[in-house]
Amino acid sequence: MKLSAWGNYPVIEGQINYPSSYAEISQRLADGFKGISQGMARSYGDSALAASVLSTNRLDHFINFDEETGVLHCQSGITLDKILLVFIPKGWMLPVVPGTKMISVGGAIASDVHGKNHHCKGTFSQYVTEITIILASGEITTCSPTDKEDLFKATCGGMGLTGIVCDVKIQLQKATSAYFQLTKFKSQNLEETFSLIEENIDIPYSAAWLDSLASGPGFGRAVVEVSQPLDDGDLSPHTPPPLSLPINLPSLSMNKYTMQMLCFLYYQLANPSLEKTQRAHYSSIFNVLDAIQHWNRAYGKQGFVQYQFVLPKEAGIEGFGKVLKAISDSGKASFVSVLKLCGASNENYLSFPTEGYSLALDFQMEPSVFAFLDRLDDIVMDYNGRVYLTKDARLSEGNFKRMYPEWETFAEIREKYGATGVFESSQSLRIRL
Ligand SMILES: Cc1cc2nc3c(=O)[nH]c(=O)nc-3n(C[C@H](O)[C@H](O)[C@H](O)COP(=O)(O)OP(=O)(O)OC[C@H]3O[C@@H](n4cnc5c(N)ncnc54)[C@H](O)[C@@H]3O)c2cc1C
Repeated sequence: MKLSAWGNYPVIEGQINYPSSYAEISQRLADGFKGISQGMARSYGDSALAASVLSTNRLDHFINFDEETGVLHCQSGITLDKILLVFIPKGWMLPVVPGTKMISVGGAIASDVHGKNHHCKGTFSQYVTEITIILASGEITTCSPTDKEDLFKATCGGMGLTGIVCDVKIQLQKATSAYFQLTKFKSQNLEETFSLIEENIDIPYSAAWLDSLASGPGFGRAVVEVSQPLDDGDLSPHTPPPLSLPINLPSLSMNKYTMQMLCFLYYQLANPSLEKTQRAHYSSIFNVLDAIQHWNRAYGKQGFVQYQFVLPKEAGIEGFGKVLKAISDSGKASFVSVLKLCGASNENYLSFPTEGYSLALDFQMEPSVFAFLDRLDDIVMDYNGRVYLTKDARLSEGNFKRMYPEWETFAEIREKYGATGVFESSQSLRIRL
């Protein structure tokens, strides 16, 4: 069958199996399984793709919740969506939620996902107190920040390459409301965009939607959003998305001109009450894109690639300016251009965030896009930045190894736990990890 993830690129031939027990996974490994695990396939490129895939969709049960400590024990196939639906009304929140809640706990750990509060709270794995994992031998073992620390640090952010995470203990945090106080600002240029984010650095959630196509005096302008939880006790969970895109749109519909128009309209019409605070539900703060199911079909059958990179703060206006200039020189366009502040990195070998700013850009798939992204890689590496593996579909081995200098330690740990040559994805084969 044809397999692809959120970007609908690449599309490969493969088989998916849906085991419903750990014993079944161990048996498949004993029978010579070679491939990768998959959760909700919300990664964009080929990290969850292989000729043989084991899905965790049927491993989606809650195991235990300790009301005293807030530690949730659940299986890895459960989605963040389900956790929020059940636990928000009880007054508990996930400390880190990425731009979509339609991901599995296993995927959240393997990509070590971050949200709009990375500068305050770090990544998802920083709230994971224990992982139960099935190793290549079929053995089921546990690891944590203090027990088999090497396996834990390689599994968190390790893109499924150490084993199959089967259940997890996560520290939830108390929620005082499902609602946030949201403030939006409009910046006039790139300098002001960074200033607004820095001025609001003490506010826990922040992100900017950057108009990546603006030129001249408006170069780098953005709508900057900052928010913090309220304490009004309203614990209403989210509701299902109201809209869905039923079919792939024709590929021409997301061309440079429609994108320019969308960017212009978003910036001009974003919010008539700028700089005034408003009350907003967590779903519209964390997961704006979840409002339209299957929005990825807007890019047509050939799909799209997301390019998310992080640059240290020192790169600042110069580094981001070069990337934005390269985009406008190329004639390409990205409507989704989200700039986020990243706090300090953690100790995992392959986790993406490092201190600085990250920018996520979507480009429709077409023949010249890879050569263009190679040019962006050069700029990113010049400023000691890196791209996010969970969004990637095209990074070269050389560039990956330059961006992630701890890859060798990671490879040694995979070897130690017998994972090399067993857990492999299209991505890991491409970047020779
Ligand atoms: C609209 C949208 C917005 C997003 N916003 C953000 C964001 O703000 N921040 C962010 O960090 N990410 C973001 N992402 C990326 C997404 O959070 C990650 O790709 C996440 O890993 C997807 O989880 P999944 O369950 O779909 O995993 P999959 O896509 O199925 O797999 C991703 C990786 O996890 C591995 N994996 C999955 N399950 C297991 C398991 N049980 N054991 C071991 N390995 C496993 C796979 O092998 C693969 O390498 C976004 C994605 C979308 C579509």
